[in-house]
Amino acid sequence: MKLYGDYHTHTLYSDGVGSIEANLNAARKKGLCAIAISDHGFNNPSPFALRYATAEMQSRRIELLRDDFPDLRIYHAIEADIISTEGDIDMKPEQFELFDYILAGFHRFARPWSLKDFFKLYIPAYISDVIRPSGDVIRRNTRAFTQMIKRYPIGILAHIDDMCIVNAREVAKCCADYGTLLELNAKHIDLTYRSFDQILATDVSLIANTDAHYPQRIGCFEHVIEYLLPYPEIWERVVNARLEEIKFRKYEY
Ligand SMILES: [Zn+2]
Ligand SMILES: [Zn+2]
Repeated sequence: MKLYGDYHTHTLYSDGVGSIEANLNAARKKGLCAIAISDHGFNNPSPFALRYATAEMQSRRIELLRDDFPDLRIYHAIEADIISTEGDIDMKPEQFELFDYILAGFHRFARPWSLKDFFKLYIPAYISDVIRPSGDVIRRNTRAFTQMIKRYPIGILAHIDDMCIVNAREVAKCCADYGTLLELNAKHIDLTYRSFDQILATDVSLIANTDAHYPQRIGCFEHVIEYLLPYPEIWERVVNARLEEIKFRKYEY
């Protein structure tokens, strides 16, 4: 199975190791048609976060590099953090415009909105590997994610169920209703098949990404392909398994 683009990669402007150019070269080498530079957003503690001024610089750099890589569709995205139980993310609406689309997800190192959010959203996620989250926690997480998708123009929901466990069906349905793509992340493919079946019971569209932090990982989709082996009919729902350009959710502001 061929995947034509990698829409979630990091550079040394957050916690990746490659330059923008190194990522583009790696994408070209892998024969991809599209790549996104999507560094971690504004509330991850330094040095693992993008500053707005750095993001502006990235944007100018990418614009120039488009001439050198006419064979690649290059996107400038950002990986934002969900930081509250009300679904707040670490971005202001006036910052959206700089990016072609926004990925968003839960990250353990982001700064929560408040101390309350630290206890309600972060702590249960930190311990979710050892203590199964209660029904209340899952309901609260699910509401946080659906609120985020309703309130913000999220293009891709990154690595669902990574630490912060939700009702996958409800969140996927919300993604489908609002035009947010649901990511299958090669780095965090610990989504249970039970949750995946719930996701597939909705109309949501899927996107497979590597979340590469090293240029050499770009386009390495083996884990996702292996994960999807029991679902041969799934590929028509994976938007980057098709050649045509992806229409990301547009900002409604
Ligand atoms: Zn990272
Ligand atoms: Zn990432």
